[in-house]
Amino acid sequence: MKTLSHYLNGQHIAGQNQRTSPVYNPATGEQSAQVALATADETREAVRIADEAFVAWSKTSPLKRARILFKFKELVETHTDELARLISSEHGKVFSDAKGEVTRGLEVVEFACGIPHLQKGEHSMNVGTGVDSYSMMQPLGVCAGISPFNFPAMVPMWMFPIALACGNTFVMKPSEKDPSTPLRLAELLSEAGLPDGVFNVVNGDKEAVDVLLTDERVQAVSFVGSTPIAEYIYVTASKHGKRVQALGGAKNHMVIMPDADLDQAVGALMGAAYGSAGERCMAISVAVPVGEETANRLREKLVAELEKLTVGPGLVDGPDNDMGPLITREHRDKVAGYIQTGVDEGAELVVDGRQTTIDGAGDGYFIGGTLFDHVTPKMRIHSEEIFGPVLAIARAESFDEAVSMVNAHEYGNGTAIFTRDGDAARQYCEQIQVGMVGVNVPIPVPMAFHSFGGWKRSLFGPLHMHGPDGVRFYTRMKTITQRWPSGIREETNHFTMPTM
Ligand code: NAD
Repeated sequence: MKTLSHYLNGQHIAGQNQRTSPVYNPATGEQSAQVALATADETREAVRIADEAFVAWSKTSPLKRARILFKFKELVETHTDELARLISSEHGKVFSDAKGEVTRGLEVVEFACGIPHLQKGEHSMNVGTGVDSYSMMQPLGVCAGISPFNFPAMVPMWMFPIALACGNTFVMKPSEKDPSTPLRLAELLSEAGLPDGVFNVVNGDKEAVDVLLTDERVQAVSFVGSTPIAEYIYVTASKHGKRVQALGGAKNHMVIMPDADLDQAVGALMGAAYGSAGERCMAISVAVPVGEETANRLREKLVAELEKLTVGPGLVDGPDNDMGPLITREHRDKVAGYIQTGVDEGAELVVDGRQTTIDGAGDGYFIGGTLFDHVTPKMRIHSEEIFGPVLAIARAESFDEAVSMVNAHEYGNGTAIFTRDGDAARQYCEQIQVGMVGVNVPIPVPMAFHSFGGWKRSLFGPLHMHGPDGVRFYTRMKTITQRWPSGIREETNHFTMPTM
């Protein structure tokens, strides 16, 4: 059995392997590898290596750092198919989706390549007589990243490209469920010329994470995952004096107004609810049609589309399926349990994905597209994140009721409104308590040069990920106010070019 372990100081390190965790191919249910779970000492060693690499890397010019990232971008482009196959074989998502994930991560690398401009700081001349003031954006030191299973390439790439570009060193702790892609990205960074020790990968679980949250050499922690763990990460790392951004779970609503282009809305909903088997923090899991007629027509069209939804392995010869399996057997059972909960709570189960048969699926962790109608805010299938291909229709009588339903939810990651009414869209954008809003756009994930983050219990910490907030998060500002005594230059009063 292949053992995946850690990448430290520019090379793969066989872990002590006191504890390991199985890695599965979710499309077949077969174990493909095991991953070493780092001990506290192994994690401390990764932090030590990153700390030692910091002095030289932080003094490397931004232009040089950017050139390494340009090379890395080129390598990721060349290896996109290989990375997408790795993602699909351990996560299960369909190949085209996996390629899309790599591309979205790459966009953050492209943004980070602009670091010489992004990290310039500010300058004011003559803030007082003969006094100038300038600010510099300095790197923090060792930064840590802890990522979830659902985007093994993109989420790490939300973090490390900007952190490294700013002059920090990094310890990445990926999800133990699909660890191969981050390890491959580490190899590509080395191939791009990143000095050893600047980027390190430690595989593991709580034992490794707790070191990253408490070790005094770690300056900042970026986390993406479920809300209970995000809150734990935020509280623990903050208590230990670290800067933290911890992104949590979600329950995203799409409001469909009576005047919306319903075919467009249904097409968008199918991708947003069932793409990647609903295992996306920006997936739409609740459709909120406004008015009885809108709801009835929406339901009818969704049922027709669900009949055409293809479910199967992520890697196939020929055209991709619409969606693949869930990540693990336990998660598949949990999603199936939620479907039963919805039935028990009195929601109407319109399409039951537990009944979907999948050709050639073996023991894969499949569940078909599921649709509930007449879901109400009090039901658990509305209040809790299911993270599977389950869409709930929660009917609203008015725009105001729809807004109240979204705003009353504990999560505030993403939302969308479909309408032809500019005023309704504008009101929605203004009133809604959610961090990322789409207008006739179902999954409003900001591009890399904007920042990504939710509100309420979908994000702990003030700064969002990537974009301008990413640069702010991974740098510390220092402001210098300086006066030089006037001397001979004032008398001669001429300007000479300095020699380089
Ligand atoms: P998870 O919270 O179980 O795990 C995330 C990371 O935390 C993993 O690296 C894991 O090893 C680690 N971890 C798990 N338990 C821990 C513990 N007790 N102590 C310390 N570390 C621990 O999340 P997941 O199941 O891998 O991912 C799915 C979740 O991530 C969903 O809730 C989804 O909404 C969320 N997510 C959010 C965003 C966002 O941008 N808000 C993006 C992607 C995923």
